[in-house]
Amino acid sequence: MAESDKRFHVHLPRTVNELLQLTKHHSDAAIYAGGTDLLKGVTKAQFALPDELISIQEVEELQRVSRTDRYLDIGAGATVARILEIGANVIPSSLVDALTHVGPPGLHSLATIGGNLCCRDHLFSLAPLLTIMDVRYEIRRLGHSRWVAAARFRDAEGAPGLAPGEVLTRVRIPLDQWNVQLFRQFGTIYLRDTQPVVFCGLAKRTKGVLDDFRMAFSAHRPVLYRNRDLEADLVGRKLPLARRETHAFLRGVEQGMQEAGLELSAVQGHRAMALTRLLLSVFTE
Ligand SMILES: Cc1cc2nc3c(=O)[nH]c(=O)nc-3n(C[C@H](O)[C@H](O)[C@H](O)COP(=O)(O)OP(=O)(O)OC[C@H]3O[C@@H](n4cnc5c(N)ncnc54)[C@H](O)[C@@H]3O)c2cc1C
Repeated sequence: MAESDKRFHVHLPRTVNELLQLTKHHSDAAIYAGGTDLLKGVTKAQFALPDELISIQEVEELQRVSRTDRYLDIGAGATVARILEIGANVIPSSLVDALTHVGPPGLHSLATIGGNLCCRDHLFSLAPLLTIMDVRYEIRRLGHSRWVAAARFRDAEGAPGLAPGEVLTRVRIPLDQWNVQLFRQFGTIYLRDTQPVVFCGLAKRTKGVLDDFRMAFSAHRPVLYRNRDLEADLVGRKLPLARRETHAFLRGVEQGMQEAGLELSAVQGHRAMALTRLLLSVFTE
């Protein structure tokens, strides 16, 4: 056996309990879900995988999807293809749109929801939308589990909030009825030159009143822009919104964008503002 083979270990747990035993005792090992991000640096000439991997591909429990009246529970190991199979009559249309942006279609049978949310260096297509949907993540280590709101999963620098030994096991999506849903993505998050922007918005309106309004966007850095004060300012207003109301909102977004640590280029800034205007146009006189 070559020296490099001796150093390389792949663990294949079959149950969540076996997985958590392994993550406790091998806390430096990387979780291998679909491998599509982990393998991105691997070429014939260069083998850049971590020395120790814990594959979750055999853990059936992590691939389960279940539904109640209020929630859709998705195992962290469920692939994008598996989730899309549930159908657009159950999954909110904005989430269908976001899922279809998780890399090229050929990747959908490999890439998992957990892998997409746990990548260290990037906030991919799903996180901004799951944040404004008030999705919660189940995080487990041996003998302990906790739920964390998507909005609190990453720290100020964008690093995923997973302590040694912890694994993301489940994603709980509330099945709210949104009247307006918008998801748009420009560019590819991996490639800064494509000036990526991931934008999403959700709203509820009844009888001429804006009952709920949320929006967020991200770019190539693993942080997102969201301003709950601006959102709260619109909620409860009569529809259609007056132009001065939407202008005030747009001014607030423009100011906040500079402070959000997104490091947007001028093009990305224009894209984010154009999509904010598009979302607001649905409610404006
Ligand atoms: C060319 C290309 C373009 C792409 N463009 C986009 C895009 O625009 N938008 C988009 O959303 N995606 C995009 N993707 C897909 C995205 O890059 C990720 O590869 C994918 O979502 C990761 O899923 P995975 O299951 O393969 O994760 P893996 O590669 O297996 O893991 C990714 C990371 O998460 C950790 N991890 C995985 N699962 C867990 C878990 N359950 N608990 C804790 N940690 C875990 C791993 O240790 C690793 O650090 C693109 C991919 C390619 C190749």
